[in-house]
Amino acid sequence: MTLAILHGSETEARALVEAVERNCACVKYQLHPPLCNVHRMVLEDQQAVDRLLFYRWLGPRLWRQEWTGETEHLVIGKGGVIWR
Ligand SMILES: [Zn+2]
Repeated sequence: MTLAILHGSETEARALVEAVERNCACVKYQLHPPLCNVHRMVLEDQQAVDRLLFYRWLGPRLWRQEWTGETEHLVIGKGGVIWR
């Protein structure tokens, strides 16, 4: 099993940990408890982790564009996704 990696900032990592803690459904107090779906997703599903981070960036930008008329353009380059 390859562990998923969060390609985000420390703030984004903390937010992900808090979200996982709020939604965790692991059975506690067992010797070898099975992981809940939330924990399995963030540990094993790289695409899901990447999408969570992408939508975390996208949501506030879409909101600003909708309510302020600001426009930003998505540029995909060597260093990843950049908004201008
Ligand atoms: Zn869990």
